[in-house]
This record gives sequence, structure tokens and C-alpha cells, in this order.
Amino acid sequence: MNKIEKVRFAPSPTGYLHIGGARTALFNYLYAKKTGGKFLVRIEDTDLARSSKESEEVIIKDLHWLGINWDEGIEVGGENGPYRSMERINLYDKFIKKLLDEGKAYYCYCSEEEIEEQRKIQRAKNEVPKYTGKCRNLTQEQIEEYKKQGRKPVIRFKVPEGKKIVVHDQIRGDVEFDSDGIGDFIIVKSDGIPVYNFAVVVDDYLMGITTVIRGEEHLSNTPRQILIYEALGFEVPKFAHVSLILGEDRSKMSKRHGSTHVDQYRNKGYLPEAIVNFLALLGWSPEGEEEIFSLSELEKMFSIDRVTKNPAVFDINKLNYINGKYIREADISRLTDLAIPFIVKAGFITEEEAVKKRPLIERMVNATREKFDYLEQITEHVKVFFEEEIEPENEEAQAMLKLEHVKDMLLLLKEKVNSVDELSSKEVKNILKSIQKETGIKGKNLFMPIRVALSGQCHGADIYEVISILGKDKVINRINYTIENLL
Ligand code: GLU
Repeated sequence: MNKIEKVRFAPSPTGYLHIGGARTALFNYLYAKKTGGKFLVRIEDTDLARSSKESEEVIIKDLHWLGINWDEGIEVGGENGPYRSMERINLYDKFIKKLLDEGKAYYCYCSEEEIEEQRKIQRAKNEVPKYTGKCRNLTQEQIEEYKKQGRKPVIRFKVPEGKKIVVHDQIRGDVEFDSDGIGDFIIVKSDGIPVYNFAVVVDDYLMGITTVIRGEEHLSNTPRQILIYEALGFEVPKFAHVSLILGEDRSKMSKRHGSTHVDQYRNKGYLPEAIVNFLALLGWSPEGEEEIFSLSELEKMFSIDRVTKNPAVFDINKLNYINGKYIREADISRLTDLAIPFIVKAGFITEEEAVKKRPLIERMVNATREKFDYLEQITEHVKVFFEEEIEPENEEAQAMLKLEHVKDMLLLLKEKVNSVDELSSKEVKNILKSIQKETGIKGKNLFMPIRVALSGQCHGADIYEVISILGKDKVINRINYTIENLL
């Protein structure tokens, strides 16, 4: 019987959750779900200078927000903890000692300046810079001398010579590396802290990870890690390196392509289920034409065989399209909760007013949700309900008010609005129908001038709902203002 699969996401808390990181987390999560395996999250914080607690917290918060939960690891615990590298320092010691004892690693006393000097010489000879192995066979006297000088050693892994290292990658096939291209690399820094390439191997081994799914940027680390697995006598896990995410100009996605972090999308009012759906399609493709999937659907469908080795291009229009779809289908109460902070921020209402006028705001959100892709955009569409003064938005709108029949039509509308108790959407429909009947004006000539007079715009949300939400007072005021000032 096959072993139960166990995968992990191991972010370094050196920044917020990047879109690429979120995709890696998602693919691991989906892989675990699909294979009936386990998903673990741990924090790789050995880079002390760049790691922060804040970053760790945001990463965890963003994962939860996306609906990506884990069976073991940080926060949830488990039998292989602790789940932060820096709390595992003691666990690494015995494996380092083993490598040292077996002559598979050694202390190196070269200073930064000496290493730089070696690199310069290699570059001058057109060689790829790598550690020369100078400290591989130091004598006891040399070691004593260095110690006397107060030098603090690093520990380097002794890379075997002339060895082919093959990464059997589930996405890219076999990728071959030559050990001669890899210099003896540092596994423990002079402050005694193991580097990522070492800690990751010990952690993956001790935590029972069967498949390592991570970004392509780590592919060049993998041969080093395989050498450590072999040197320690550990079984090498399976690997799958997911391709880079590129911006639309096909260069690696970065800040200049726009928002690159999950929290930036949350803050703009994207929905987590849309982000998840979009991320799943960044490199993975479903079998049919359909592209809209919930997380639980993806859990059943995902397969690493359908992850491409071609780079994925981040297409913001596609994300907006997907998000718009989810916005249109979202529960209206939830959507209103999410929309209110944007409406408050725009200065249209206070938080207290939002509570009092909740039913009306819900109607505004519902009436306009066809018109925007993410919630930050809602303010442009709901402003007609709040602004005191309405002016035609452009020449086309102005022209609509200049039509000969407009004044009489607006007067008639005012009369009819005045005569009803409450301006429900259905009532508005009746009123407009009766105006059409009585005057013979219809279609664009009927709707557009009215819309412009009441909202300043030629196009927008459902006109009956717009007029109904505005309510009698605003409608009459705007008609009066238009007749007095704009015709
Ligand atoms: N800590 C690494 C990173 O954040 C992850 C490495 C791995 O998955 O092995 O890029």
C-alpha cells in the first residue's frame, strides 16, 4: 500500500503572503485533499534579519482568509513540532554532528574578504564562482591558528565530485545537475544557525513529508538538498516545482505589475473564493472548458499531472472577470458587510448611518453589483444615491436634457411621484409605463433624460431600483434642480 501523502507549505516570514506563495499553499492543500493526505504549515524563520512576527501573522491570516486550513503545524500543533525553525535549533544539532563526524561536512574559517577574493580570481578566469574547498583538509595547527585569530567558522557541506544529481520532478520531468557546478555550500552560519537548505531537509524528513511542492525558484536548491538527504541516509521525497508567475509583459511578476500580495487584493474588495479560483488556474488546468470552481470542487478535481511547466501569466482582467462573477452570486448580506467600509471610506455615510440605513444600503449594493468587479469600485456606482448635486457627467448626458420634450416629461414625472405614498420599484415601473402611455415617448427618449436628471449618468444600474432607492424627496429635488438649472 502507498504511504499516505503528506505535503507542506513552509513560508519564510519575510514579507506578506505573495500571490505566488498563496498559489503554492493552495496547490499543496489541494494535493493533500485530492490524495486523502495531510497538509502541514511551518514557518522557516532562520533568516533572522528579514523575518518578523508581523509577517508570520499576516501570512497565517491570509491563508485562513483564503479558506486554506491545515492538519498540522503552526497554530494547530501536532506531533512533529515545534513548527518554527528557530525553535527547532536543537533538533538540527545531531544531524550536523553526524555529517561532521562522518567527514561529510567541515568547519570553514575563510573570511568574507577571502571568499570575495577567491570569487574575483574565478571570475577573471571565466569560471563560475564557487567555494574552492580551501578549508576541506585543514591541519590541527591551522585550525588552532584560525581560532587564535578569533575567527568564527561556518560549517560547509562537502559536495561529492563528479556526481550527477537528478531531480525527478513531477511537473518538469527529470532535471539533471552536475555536482561539480556546486561548490561546498554553507549549512551552518558562523552564528550557529543552520541555513534554509539544511534545515528544510531535516524538517521535511522529521515531519514525514512525502512530496515537496514549491515554486520553481527553489529548483536550483533541490540538488543541494538531495545531497544532504543522501548524506544523512534519508529517503528523498518526491518533488514538484511549480512554474513562475509572470506579469503580462512576461517578466517575473513584481510590484511594478500592480498588486502582488494577497492582502492588497483583500483590501480592494476581492472575494477569497475568487482569488482561490483564479490562483488554481495559474498553472493548473481543468479538463473541460468550465473555469469557475469553488474550493471544495477544486479539492476533488486537482491533479498535479495537469500542472503545466510553462510559466503562468497573471491576467488581471481574468481575475476581475472571475471576481465579478462571484460578486454577482454572493449572499447580499455578506456583500453589504464587505461593501460598507468602502462606502464609509468614500465619505458618503458614517458607520452609524450605515447601521441605521442597512436595508437601503443592501438595496444599493444589490442594484449596482452587476456594474463592478471588486468592491473598491462600488463607490463610483453608489455615489448617485448620496451626492447632493447632480450634474450631467458628459456631453452625451447634457444633450439628453436638451431634447424638447424633457421639461414636460419631468414635470409629469414629478406630479406622479408626488401622488404616490411610497416609491417602490414596482411603483416606479408603473409610473414610467403610464408616462409612456400618456405621452407616446418611449425607449431611450423616455429613460435617458430621466436617468440623467436623477443621476447625471446616461447608463447605470436598473433605473426602477435607482429611482426607488433615491426616494421621493431626492427625486423631486433633482427634478426641480434640473428644470431650473440644466435645461
Ligand atoms: N521558506 C521557503 C520560501 O519561503 C520555502 C522553501 C520550500 O518550500 O522548501 O520560499
